[in-house]
This record gives sequence, C-alpha cells and structure tokens, in this order.
Amino acid sequence: MAKKTEDQCSFCGRKRSEVQILISGIEGQICDQCVDQANDIVADEAVNKGKAQKQEIELKKPKELKASLDEYVIGQDEAKQVISVAVYNHYKRINYNLVHRKKEDEIEIEKSNILLVGETGTGKTLIARTIARMLDVPFCIADATVLTEAGYVGEDVENVLVRLLQAADYNVDAAEKGIVFIDEIDKIARKSDNPSITRDVSGEGVQQALLKLLEGSVVNVPPQGGRKHPDQKMIQVNTQNVLFICGGAFDGIDRKIANRINTNIIGYNKKGTEKIDKKNLLQYVSPQDVRSYGLIPEIVGRLPMLSFLHPLTKESLKRILQEPKNSLSKQFHKLFEMDGIEITFEDSGYDYIVEKAVEFKLGARGLRTIVEAVLTEAMFELPSNKKIKNLKVDRKYAQSQLEKTNLAKLQAS
Ligand code: ADP
Repeated sequence: MAKKTEDQCSFCGRKRSEVQILISGIEGQICDQCVDQANDIVADEAVNKGKAQKQEIELKKPKELKASLDEYVIGQDEAKQVISVAVYNHYKRINYNLVHRKKEDEIEIEKSNILLVGETGTGKTLIARTIARMLDVPFCIADATVLTEAGYVGEDVENVLVRLLQAADYNVDAAEKGIVFIDEIDKIARKSDNPSITRDVSGEGVQQALLKLLEGSVVNVPPQGGRKHPDQKMIQVNTQNVLFICGGAFDGIDRKIANRINTNIIGYNKKGTEKIDKKNLLQYVSPQDVRSYGLIPEIVGRLPMLSFLHPLTKESLKRILQEPKNSLSKQFHKLFEMDGIEITFEDSGYDYIVEKAVEFKLGARGLRTIVEAVLTEAMFELPSNKKIKNLKVDRKYAQSQLEKTNLAKLQAS
C-alpha cells in the first residue's frame, strides 16, 4: 500500500510540519505565511489603485469647506471664507487643466496664493493645516525667517519644497498639488523704503527668491535638503499648482492702515459715511499697506487673496477651550474617561483658565499649558485611586492647582 504523503502548501510547497497553519481549499492548501504575503500584495494593489485614481482632487464647494473649517477654527469668518474660495478655485483650476490639457484656445486660469495678516496665535496656521487635511493633500510649514538668498548663511528657498516632498512621501506628483504655509512673511520685509546700496540679504533678496516659487516655476530640489552640491541628485518640482498661504503678524501695520484711510478724530473715513472701527484696523488691510510695510510689489501681486484675523477675545478663548472638534476639554475628557473618570469643567473653571492665559500673555497657545498644569495632580493621583470617579474643575479647584505649580510664578515676573 502506498504511504500517504504529508500535506503541503500548494503555493510555496512547505510541508504541514514546517508551517503553523495549513488551510485546505477545494483544489489544494495554503499556509499561514502565504496568506500573509497575499494580504500584503492585495493591500499594495489597493494603495496603487487609489493613487492612480486620486489624480483629480475631490472638491467640496466653498460653503462646505467653510463649514468644515468651522468645526476646528473658532471665529475668523472673513479669513475662513477667503481661504475656502481660494482653495476651491485653486483645485477647480487644477482639475480643469487636467481634463482640458492645454488646448490652445482654452482660457488659462492663473492661481491665487493667499496672504493672512493677523497677530500671532490667532489661527493662521491652524486654518491652513485644517484645509490641507480636509483636502488630503501634502502640507508643510516653512518659516520665512530662516530663509536667505542662495549663497548666504541660512536655508535656501528651495528647502521649503524639501519639506513638501517629505510630506508627500517623495511622490512628486502629489507634492506638486500640495499646500505650503509660509509663516512670518512679514519678517522678510524690506527694512527701509529706499532700495539700499548695500544688499539686504535677509529681506529683499529672499523675497526675490521666494517670488520664483510663488509664481510657479520648475525648481531643482535637493531631496535630503541642505545646500546644493554638485554630486547630489536633484528632484525637479514644478510649483505651478502648489498653493502658497503666507502668514504674518505685520506688527505696526495698523499705523500704515490708519494713515491710508486717514481717519479723522471722530473716527469717520474721508467721505464721512462709514464708521471706522479704530480698535481693529487690521480688518481694513489692503495690498497697498502690505507694500508700504516692505513687501516688494511683485510678491504682493502674487498674493492676490488678502485677508485678516481678529485678535482673540476672552469669549473666543473660552469657545476655543470647548467647541472645536478636538478641543482641549474634549481631549482631556477622553483621557480621563480611559481611566473610568468623568471630568466636568464648570463655567467658572473655563473663565479662570482664560483669564490666566490672557494675564500671562500666552494667547490660545497657552491654554493647553494652563490646563495641563491644572490637571497634573489629578492625572497623577486618580488612575491609582479606586474610589474617585468624578472630577469637577471649577474656579476654586483650577486656582488651587495652578498656584501649586511654577507656572503661577509667571504672574510675578
Ligand atoms: P498663528 O496665527 O500664529 O499661526 P496658530 O494657528 O498656530 O497661530 O494657533 C496656535 C494654536 O492656538 C492652535 O494650534 C490652536 O490650538 C489655537 N488657536 C488659535 N486660534 C484659534 C482659533 N481661531 N480657533 C481654534 N483654535 C485656535
């Protein structure tokens, strides 16, 4: 009688004794290792297919974009509206070019980069980051202050695109449709009005270099960043479809705005018809003001969508604590919930946290620091305490906790 041979995997030939599991099918068997491998192949295929289909960016209408921004960014309606329109038009234009592929008679739609003017910590970066996440396009942040003209100490302007490439996992096609946020653009403003004889390395020179990126050109990017050197292989990136959002605080621009609108003592404009809100002059910002602040006309021309952000009031800080989809109160609620503890913030607790953020001049960025300080002891003690299942954060509790920390000393300084 023939000896029964040992079962084996029909894909790799391994015997039953050599594998952990052998699954039998109608025509043969498959081992656990081949199942794993097959799984990877299927997943890779799905990703590649997704990438191929993702050429065209799925577009929401401006109102939908704004509504999604509202979930994360409190207030700042003007800026959110401008961004929603700019982003919608930008990607509509890209999709149009993709379909109509440059027929001679087609109208060429130019891109509109954006400039956001507003105090630090008012949500400029947050708006840019949120919109990029909503669109699922690569996004990076660059700081204008570290940029210098090629050949000088500092970073070459091309390095901005290195970060974008990294954010796109070196997928050039995706990077070319990404969003770049350039922070502190006001810091590369020309220092004086008359173009000087000595070169202004960190001001006008950088603006000229940046202009090339904003306008849309093919740029040689060193893939690992750093200085260009002859034997490094460059990646070519076309910035024609990269959306640039620039932001800056433009300290003191309100004086230029005031000069221009020539407010009189009563606070009416020249025509005397419209009341000027002197406390928040930024809302009247125009390209002309940005120019007189020291951005060269060519750059201003390449940032045609101009908007502003309001300074954050106590009310908006209080809303920031509670309302955004990933607000601090929701985050800490979740954290405590994982230990079976229900945390409740009382209104008076919120008020105290906001007052301290304002007092320490920390703005919205400081809210987290203060909340962390208020909750540190609870986060240390409560996970090992089986009895306490509720924590109420009111003014009294917040104050007593904060006073125990070093943070309270900020007050004295
Ligand atoms: P900047 O205007 O300097 O770019 P950011 O956008 O980086 O400021 O804001 C800093 C942080 O403050 C954000 O990460 C966010 O947590 C909070 N924040 C600021 N403004 C708002 C806002 N309008 N709505 C919600 N959170 C905000």
